[in-house]
Amino acid sequence: TVISGARDPDWDVELRGLYKRFGDFVALDGIDLQIRRGEFFGLLGPSGCGKTTLLRILAGLEMADAGAVVIRGRPVGHLPAHKRNVNTVFQSYALFPFMTVEENVGFGLRMRGLRGETVRKKVAAALELVEIGAFAGRKPHELSGGQQQRVALARALVNEPEVLLLDEPLSALDAKLRKQLQVQLCELQRRLGMTFIFVTHDQEEALVTSDRVAVMRAGRIEQMGLIDEVYERPATAFVAEFLGASNLLQGTACGTDCVDTPLGKLKVLGIPASHEPVQLAIRPEKIQLSRTGWDLLPNQVPVRVENLIYTGAENQYLLRTAQGQHLKATALNMDNEDFGFEIGEALVAHLPPKSLIRLQPAPLPPSPMEDP
Ligand code: ATP
Repeated sequence: TVISGARDPDWDVELRGLYKRFGDFVALDGIDLQIRRGEFFGLLGPSGCGKTTLLRILAGLEMADAGAVVIRGRPVGHLPAHKRNVNTVFQSYALFPFMTVEENVGFGLRMRGLRGETVRKKVAAALELVEIGAFAGRKPHELSGGQQQRVALARALVNEPEVLLLDEPLSALDAKLRKQLQVQLCELQRRLGMTFIFVTHDQEEALVTSDRVAVMRAGRIEQMGLIDEVYERPATAFVAEFLGASNLLQGTACGTDCVDTPLGKLKVLGIPASHEPVQLAIRPEKIQLSRTGWDLLPNQVPVRVENLIYTGAENQYLLRTAQGQHLKATALNMDNEDFGFEIGEALVAHLPPKSLIRLQPAPLPPSPMEDP
């Protein structure tokens, strides 16, 4: 696991050496994770990588086979869900259909023995936070999906948890509403200063919402760090392709700052003088295109436009080199000469040395867990 950032005394949530097995299947294979107080933390990874299992263990809905769960310095691994100051918002809103919005949100408080004006005030404040005060008297079936999800959020927030867990809470919503709620969720989280742990398999959602992320793969954390660090410096090919798009290049070091690739010898920063294998990644938006090429710039590769996807805001080009290598490049729709190339055109692609990222070899596949 690659972890950026030094150890911080303000960790709100710490997971240490977490293992979880279902029969012979290893769902979590040694998870170490620290989350800061007031952080919007994204847990990102493909379907089945263990995100929900991790969240359920944090919430106390599932027990780990080994490892520690620590919240605000207190080990809580042995505590049942209702004794942890943690609330979860699920993808399915799970509202009580026969209760009004107000009753749904107040339910947990009444279960804890609170009554009357206290409940009314707390419920009203929570409904205000998610901007659905006007719907307090409605039943869930009289609300849209987005409004129901706001109720589910209010129902979790009303308990004033130390940590709010969100398990793909927006994935049942249509794209436009989803984008809107992503932004509102961020604003809410900042306003409350509450620690949010947000599970998603949607990389764009993680980019929009998260301060830091952990990218998971097959029960392990492959990389963890600030979202922009992980995007700009992916550690492995898996991360480079899962978070955003990437061109991957296999090559061999050919001296200081030199890698021999199928595109020719490229200048790459930080390569020692050796002949070791090197795997490189470059993001499509870092590649520059020109009809004429540039004077004195290294890493210019002649290409032809094989395909073009117009998306309004940008053009996505599929390029092909003389040796038959493919490269993806995107150019913003800026009314300049870097935009508007046509299929079949001969161009020069520039791969800036600082944009070529050296990747680590892929980690070993998960091992069967040792019996504790
Ligand atoms: P998704 O994005 O699809 O929800 P996920 O990353 O949240 O996936 P988990 O739900 O944590 O994945 O599941 C991880 C793996 O553990 C999956 O392969 C799943 O089939 C398996 N698994 C989860 N719960 C159980 C269970 N109760 N019994 C057996 N296997 C389980």
